[in-house]
Amino acid sequence: MDYELVIRNATVIDGTRSPRYEADIFIAGGRIAAVGRLDNARADAELDASGRIVAPGFIDSHTHDDRLMLSAPDMAPKVSQGVTTVVAGNCGCSLAPAPNGMPAPVTPPLDLLDDAGGWFRFPTFREYVEELVAHPPATNCALLVGHTMLRVQTMDKLERAAKKAEIAKMRSLADEALAAGAIGISTGLYYEPARAAPTDEVVQICRPLAERNGLYVTHMRDEGDNVLASLEETFRIGREVGVPVVISHHKVAGAPNHGRSSETLPLIEARMKSQPIGLDCYPYCASSTILSAGRAAVATKTLVTWSKPHPEVAGMDLEEIGREFKLGVEELLPAGAIYFSMSEQDVQRILAFEHTMIGSDGLPHDAAPHPRLWATFPRVLGHYARGLGLFPLETAVYKMTGLPARTFGLKDRGMLAPGMAADITIFDAGEIDEGATFERPIAPAKGIDTVIVNGAIVWREGKPTGARPGQVLRRS
Ligand SMILES: [Zn+2]
Repeated sequence: MDYELVIRNATVIDGTRSPRYEADIFIAGGRIAAVGRLDNARADAELDASGRIVAPGFIDSHTHDDRLMLSAPDMAPKVSQGVTTVVAGNCGCSLAPAPNGMPAPVTPPLDLLDDAGGWFRFPTFREYVEELVAHPPATNCALLVGHTMLRVQTMDKLERAAKKAEIAKMRSLADEALAAGAIGISTGLYYEPARAAPTDEVVQICRPLAERNGLYVTHMRDEGDNVLASLEETFRIGREVGVPVVISHHKVAGAPNHGRSSETLPLIEARMKSQPIGLDCYPYCASSTILSAGRAAVATKTLVTWSKPHPEVAGMDLEEIGREFKLGVEELLPAGAIYFSMSEQDVQRILAFEHTMIGSDGLPHDAAPHPRLWATFPRVLGHYARGLGLFPLETAVYKMTGLPARTFGLKDRGMLAPGMAADITIFDAGEIDEGATFERPIAPAKGIDTVIVNGAIVWREGKPTGARPGQVLRRS
């Protein structure tokens, strides 16, 4: 048989946590056709992976790439790290549906996707999916529809619970999104536009998930003092709707809560015995979202990532901005920030927890973004797996491939085996490392050799190839 591409002399880490082994990998029709030593097989093109790891392409479990896929379809921040699939529409924020457009100014935190508002131009979720199919990006995606977006589209005032008719309207918008291909609903109950939503509002809007085989993904109401109550609220929503839940970017924030992952993880593990639960985490003890005085007050240090009225302060420390420019938080808004508010011990404990997936939570439109946007995956593989020995490389790869594929129901992804889609990342285990840092937040990873999506090479020799083979993935 003739193949399109063969990767020779690979050290395969297959995404299941099995130990690595040597093989050649044959690709045809966008799929992995064979793995092994086929001495007589020929291929149109050949890559030599001697001394390199060949793994399934990484799945970024938590992104805000809804608009990046359309406005910068090379997806350089992601493919440069070996990411081949992004889960978008998180934290209640999705680009669609916008049956009523997006009035200016864009309600935070939806402005993380587009602060000017012009990209919120898809009246239905189906039209957004069709745009991604007609103009595909370099990566695959799996899409969530955001509860905050539904509220902004449906309600005149956001600081109250939704009324019966509004809930019915939101539920039908959610159902349309799920029918069009969304794999679930996300909430951002922590943020002002959704904070007034009682648990029952979320349950009622999420009802279509059960029939549509979707999942519930949440930036919980509280990741600080009341984190245990928020976990219980999340589990209750999952039970009442009858669907799996995913806890986004799990953390315990604020100095008084440092160490409390020793309470949250056992609770998650206990509840996992009676209902399906997933969680993701980014490998940093600083968070990033929109700027607010309240959040800055509980952080040990705050860096500004963007400011609409004062773009010149992007990348600077909030205290330094106060001293040098005499500007306070209110004068910088709307703006984004990085908050140092977690303990390294909690981050390591959560990352090492058996069921934790890796998700970047990167914010691709920030002027001086949190380095997690460009460096999450190489930091887990380089700093945490190789450097600190927090877990074996096989486990690190599993947390970014097999585990998220199973959690999100992406059937033919996340494993390197015959019949699976040919999403592949080739990297050097000794060299893989973060390029981006807090000081220099935009830089590709070190040690990533070649990245393949659906059989097409999208990243090679440190740059995008221009190929855009990404697909919109469904949940099965
Ligand atoms: Zn979030």
